[in-house]
Parts: sequence; C-alpha cells; structure tokens
Amino acid sequence: MSFWSIDEDKQTSPTLRSLLRLRPLAAQFIRTRVGSGSATSFWWDHWTPLGPLIRVLGQTGPRDLMIPLSARVCDACNDTGWLLRGARSDAALELQTHLTTIHLPMRNSPPDLVYWYINNESLEAFSASRVWDAIRHREPPHQWTASVWFNGRVPRHAFNFWIAYHDRLPTKSRLAAWAINISTACILCNSAMEDRDHLFLRCPTSEVIWACVLRRLGAHHHSFHTWTAMMDWLSLNDSRTITLLKRLASQATIYNIWTERNRRIHDNVITPPAMIFKTIDRSIRDVILGKRNNSNFRKAMELWLSYE
Ligand SMILES: [Zn+2]
Repeated sequence: MSFWSIDEDKQTSPTLRSLLRLRPLAAQFIRTRVGSGSATSFWWDHWTPLGPLIRVLGQTGPRDLMIPLSARVCDACNDTGWLLRGARSDAALELQTHLTTIHLPMRNSPPDLVYWYINNESLEAFSASRVWDAIRHREPPHQWTASVWFNGRVPRHAFNFWIAYHDRLPTKSRLAAWAINISTACILCNSAMEDRDHLFLRCPTSEVIWACVLRRLGAHHHSFHTWTAMMDWLSLNDSRTITLLKRLASQATIYNIWTERNRRIHDNVITPPAMIFKTIDRSIRDVILGKRNNSNFRKAMELWLSYE
C-alpha cells in the first residue's frame, strides 16, 4: 500500500491521522524522477508533470488504462513500450503524449530518485526553511500573527487557520490548479467553485454558521465576504475580552467548516449548520472554562453567554 493511499479516517492513532492529513501539503513539494521505475507507484507518486495520476484520471483510471492501482511504473511497460490501453479521455491522452517524450524505464536504468521540488527548483535534500519559505508569505509578519497564535488558542484550530490564512488548504480550486480533471464545485452548496473565500465566507451554509457566531458576539453587522475583510474585523481595536472571543470564535468556525467539508467529501455525512454551531459553541466554552482563573477568560464567558 502506498503512503499516499492510506485512508486517514481509518487510522486509530491521532498522530498518524494528523500526519496523513498534511499529505496534500507535502505532496506539492515531492517529485519522483523515474529511472528503472521499480520504486515508483504508477498511480500515487508524482512522476509526471500531471501530478499523481490517480488524481488526474480518477478512480476509474486503473480500469480505463488497464493498469492496476498497485502497479509500479515498471509494471506499466515492457522492453518495447508502454502497456497502457488507448486513451479515452483528454487527461489520458495528455499522459500518453507525455510518455512518448520520456525514456522508457529499463531494468538496468539508474534507481528512481525522490526529490523535493520547491519554487520551481529541485532539491536533493529536504530543507525545512525552504519549505517554510514557500508556504509563508514573503511579507514581514503583520498583526495577523497575533490573531493566530494568541494565548488560549486551540492548537489544531490555530494551525488550520494559519494554513487557511496562507490559502494553502487543499481546496478543490487549488487541487485543480495542479491536478486537472477534478470537479471544483463546493460540496456545501454545489453551486459555486470551492475556493477559500467562498467555502469559509461566502457559501450560504457558512453564512448561516457565521450568523450564529456573530450574534453571540453581539455583532450587528453581516458577515464578511473576503478573507481580508475578516482579518480587518479581527484586527479592530476592541476590548481584550472581545478580541479574545473573536479570535477563538473565528478559528473554531473556520476549523469546523473545513471539518464539515471533509466529512461530506470523504464520509458522505451532512451535519446541519445549527449542529455545527453547537460544536463551535462547545469548543469555545471548553477553552474558556479551562482558563477560568484568568479574569479576561471569565469575562469572555459572561459575554459569550449573554447573547445566548
Ligand atoms: Zn458553497
């Protein structure tokens, strides 16, 4: 089984699950240069410019090309050529065209080479600083860092928010940008393209959740429709208590919308917005209760409950 094909939802170890969840992020940087083809998964590794072929050709790909899901690249050819069945889709045609331009993997070719590919440059060794540099914005840190890494944050909410801030979550529009042939429709409303701002801020489902959240913050205005507008709202000069609540609530909201989106895609489970808000409400109360010796958190609880 390939590392890329393990079902994260079936893993019992939370550490393994959270590692597996980062795969789309890591996959952007990992490439394979095929030599003999014996160490490279035909479907899961990123060995052509199209990206991992399973993403490009979909679940019917193995049947259409007659190449099993477990095949290595060397299994897909013999000494005289590739063994793929004739192309039935544009993506398959594109793949076959590409394959005519590369050397046929041979038993006596050099071994396959896995390397890092960061900002259009190939690196033989992993460089955490280069990856970090590619993920982060190049501007100096702004006041937004305080909105993300504040005292009292829920680590997984903050991390998710940080990735979303950089627009590096594997939303469908981002996946489509590096692997063609997937539907980009938003799973929550089915009527718009799923990109970060739509999914979290403009989708009708998300708007209902935000309306519940904002009401409990005593906010009178409507929700925001762009990430920038939300960040502006987060950096307004409010009291310490309001600022704390806004940060907690927005991170919990973004996290729970992302979770809902993943559940709908992977498990086919739909949770109504009101129930999602309940989860957000509970997580905010848990955080505040855990810090009730701190007067700011005590005031935050009063405020959060006052608009119930
Ligand atoms: Zn939507």
